Amino acid sequence: MQSFSNSNRNKRLDDLKERDLDLIVIGGGITGAGILLDAALRGLKVVLIEKDDFASGTSSKSTKLIHGGLRYLKQFKIGLVRESGLERRIAHNNACHLVHPEKMLLPIVKGGSFSKLTAGIAISVYDRLANVQKENIRKFLSKLEVLELLPQINPDILKGGIQYSEFRTDDARLTIEIIKAARRNSAEAFNYLEASNFEYENGKIKSVTCFDHTSKKKISLSAKKIVSATGPWADNLRKKDDDNTSSSLFISKGIHIVIPKSKLTIQSATYFDVFDRRMLFAIPRQDVVYIGTTDTKYTGDKNNLDCTAEDADYLLDASNKMFLQTFTKEDVLSSWAGLRPLIRKEGQGPSELSRKDEIFISDSGLISIAGGKLTGYRKMAKRIVDMVSDDLGYNNSCLTKEYKIHHNPFSDYSEYRRFTSDLISEYSNYKASDLKFLSSSFGKDAIFILEHAVSNSTSIDESICSYCINYESAYFPLDILERRTGWLYFEINKAQNKLSHVLRELSDTFNFEVEATNQIQTDTQNKIDASSLSNLKV
Ligand code: FAD
Repeated sequence: MQSFSNSNRNKRLDDLKERDLDLIVIGGGITGAGILLDAALRGLKVVLIEKDDFASGTSSKSTKLIHGGLRYLKQFKIGLVRESGLERRIAHNNACHLVHPEKMLLPIVKGGSFSKLTAGIAISVYDRLANVQKENIRKFLSKLEVLELLPQINPDILKGGIQYSEFRTDDARLTIEIIKAARRNSAEAFNYLEASNFEYENGKIKSVTCFDHTSKKKISLSAKKIVSATGPWADNLRKKDDDNTSSSLFISKGIHIVIPKSKLTIQSATYFDVFDRRMLFAIPRQDVVYIGTTDTKYTGDKNNLDCTAEDADYLLDASNKMFLQTFTKEDVLSSWAGLRPLIRKEGQGPSELSRKDEIFISDSGLISIAGGKLTGYRKMAKRIVDMVSDDLGYNNSCLTKEYKIHHNPFSDYSEYRRFTSDLISEYSNYKASDLKFLSSSFGKDAIFILEHAVSNSTSIDESICSYCINYESAYFPLDILERRTGWLYFEINKAQNKLSHVLRELSDTFNFEVEATNQIQTDTQNKIDASSLSNLKV
């Protein structure tokens, strides 16, 4: 297993100076990660820089679905649905422990977006565009069958339902695994390294000035090509490059809330109608269900974003209309808020704007890519790396379609299932739910993490913490509690309980000073408190 740690960060940064880089990728979300891997597999010398943690932007705040987007079919965006539909299968094949098949239930309700007939036609087109295998094509359900899966749905408005195939993922872990895969192929990547300025020669960008948030030092990096994959921040960098650039993005905010499964009994992920003709997802995960999302114009601070009570009210109201149970803010264990970088079009509101990606090239040579979806990251990366390779005169082709992302991958989903059940029988002194979490988060590295726990007489959670520091470049507590484990969202008690251990281990590894450690503790605690609307504290 390849080390990926900030403890040898300075040496890794020094080594970069020796390399004649082809490409600098700015932004460590799924788009930047995809570009890094694609370029590395084609033999380009490439580095990625991320101002915060990897996946700390939109790529840890999505609905976590790898999906074709049924709602885009309603808008007749056939090309987008076909591409996403085909990409779903590729994402599953290449990282099956992270991209799981998920049956999605669409209840048909009185006054809803779909009748049985229109839903049946739409989903059959959807299945056909995505080339869904016969055994997974849509299935009509009676009212009784829907009630078995979703006993709390309001029976007075329910007419029946349809179940169809989607995939669910962990967006942040997918991003981090892709970055690790790129590093195994000679790429380099740094979190907490911000592109703060550009330097020019004859009107063309020559190098990027980077601010290292860990050492508070500036460094300069040069490469033949610079790509900005900064998502919602793309306009900020474009304006840094050229003052006169007009905004290309419409920023839309989307939030999710997390409630206990004991409050909403749900046997299947569900896509349900809202009173304003939008639709929401309710997705079970571990012991909770998350519900989302909203789609509202956002003009505030992009670096400081939380779910507000008003945002949550919309989701709570909508859920209270669909289910018999009444949910209140006290039920919200956790939440997250993300920003969609949508391509601006005059006269269109957030829900109408296209989810397509777009590439902008400035006179100075800065290539920016924004928009798109998590699901389409591989194709977005291919478009960029095709273009960069052509410009550099390299004759290569994209290799990511068949490339398994994990260093020790499962050959297919049945091997993943067998591995998980063997793990549960072999390590029977541990909780099955913890072992399932390990294999669905870290794949076969679950065994490495378990053996480390056994040989060091520590808990699995503490072993995960060491793994994230040594092999996944974690530097601050939220890197572990939020993005590498998802505890902040799906097991907020654990995030709270593990904070002091995680902080101690990070501070020992990176020699944080006492004052800095105290500040990090306060900042992390504030973030944990802000996630929980019920203000849960242990
Ligand atoms: P980001 O993930 O935001 O990455 C950009 C990165 O650039 C950030 O990490 C940022 O810190 C960094 N950066 C910015 N400026 C600098 C700088 N100067 N120097 C260095 N780094 C910098 N898609 C799906 O397919 N399925 C879904 O279920 C889904 N659900 C969604 C739900 C919501 C609420 C939202 C908001 C989006 C959803 N999407 C979904 C869309 C998907 O999440 C995004 O398209 C995708 O995550 C965007 O990734 P990105 O890498 O382009 O941007």
